[in-house]
Amino acid sequence: MSAVAPKTPGKTLLPPLREMWCEGCVYGVVIRWEPPACPMCRETSWRERPRSARYN
Ligand SMILES: [Zn+2]
Repeated sequence: MSAVAPKTPGKTLLPPLREMWCEGCVYGVVIRWEPPACPMCRETSWRERPRSARYN
């Protein structure tokens, strides 16, 4: 009756979160994996945010 959530021994190594911007409509996402097509404009090319540089 009691479904215990399985605890994973040790942490699974995940790639860090990245902020990506769509090249087409500048839609921003935060993901770990390769982004699929943009949900807004179906663009498939994404630009990754530079880590230290700021272009504001
Ligand atoms: Zn887009």
